[in-house]
Amino acid sequence: MEKKLGFGCMRLPLTDPKDQTSIDIPQFEKMVDLFLERGFRYFDTAYMYHDHESERAVRKALVERHPRDSFTITTKLPVGMLKTEEDLERIFHEQLEKTGAGFFDYYWLHNLNREDIDMANQLGCWEFIQKKKEEGLIRHIGFSYHDMPDLLDEILTQHPETEYVQLQINYLDWEADNVKARENYEVCVKHGKPVIVMEPVKGGTLAQVPAEVEEIFKEIHPNLSVPSWAVRYAASLPNVFMVLSGMSDLAQLEDNSSYMEDFKPLDEVEKQAVFKAADLILKAASIKCTACRYCVEGCPKKIPIPEYFQLYNEYQKAGGGWTAPQREAYRELSETEGVGKASDCIRCGKCEKACPQHLKIREYLLKVKEKLEE
Ligand code: SF4
Ligand code: SF4
Repeated sequence: MEKKLGFGCMRLPLTDPKDQTSIDIPQFEKMVDLFLERGFRYFDTAYMYHDHESERAVRKALVERHPRDSFTITTKLPVGMLKTEEDLERIFHEQLEKTGAGFFDYYWLHNLNREDIDMANQLGCWEFIQKKKEEGLIRHIGFSYHDMPDLLDEILTQHPETEYVQLQINYLDWEADNVKARENYEVCVKHGKPVIVMEPVKGGTLAQVPAEVEEIFKEIHPNLSVPSWAVRYAASLPNVFMVLSGMSDLAQLEDNSSYMEDFKPLDEVEKQAVFKAADLILKAASIKCTACRYCVEGCPKKIPIPEYFQLYNEYQKAGGGWTAPQREAYRELSETEGVGKASDCIRCGKCEKACPQHLKIREYLLKVKEKLEE
């Protein structure tokens, strides 16, 4: 049986933390080798990850260095970026070329939501991926999804050809109104579609939990890491086929692979600990940004939204007081050439349309401005 841990290629190691295209290929190669050595094989990339460079990095670190039958690749059609029917063929061929994969084991319509579903239907995206499957260029089709359960039910009813659904599931979002992870999962179960989990650690949020939560976990398993609880939680759901983890260094990979190599689902005591943790984290939480960066590309003011939100959350965690390094970090980033300050936001709302977490980005940026530029 395939191991349930997939390598998400959206937060790869960088040589320059300010440049998403500066992927550290030698380190990525080491991570790929260790991942395969430990019996895992599933790699997940997408057209726009790392400012469109992730697919190329996968080619260099994986495809050109390992036999094609030793790994599986999934990538995605960026539905939100499509304008004409010609874009489908153009982008698909670009992806084949960039990855060098020859074919895709899994291919998804990326980030389907209420905003983009009409465009996906009008441009014939469903027929397109089905055709590519018949041509042997795709083995399995599906979509990644970031919206409410009623629409998911509609889509799966209209498209029974869907084989898999990729959902955001983690113990914090399980009952969250803006994500509705449990209900989305249940819709997939109803339609008999296996689920691939993205954001099990919620973009790193569940790796850095309040001290009291860490204590709960350590009391049960002193040697297990904090993120392991989040990944194991998602993998324990019976209809979950794969859990993706966006790994950024060898240490994360070592950790993830250690407990997923011989995976054991959470028992009752562990589940209760996780639910208690979710309550405590929600009480302490601030902006629930997963740092997916979907909002960044379309921003006319080039505002590094996730980085600002991360700084703001650090500020909140510290009890609402700035440390000198935090101030310096904001100043340095916001004064970089071509980068917008929080106060440069013109409130056009493009970012909010792209945000899978449905965050009120404009409101939060006002808070960032208040606190960071004061
Ligand atoms: S609302 Fe502000 S942050 Fe969002 S895309 Fe427009 S300018 Fe950028
Ligand atoms: S604000 Fe939303 S779209 Fe932007 S990085 Fe955070 S979660 Fe992703």
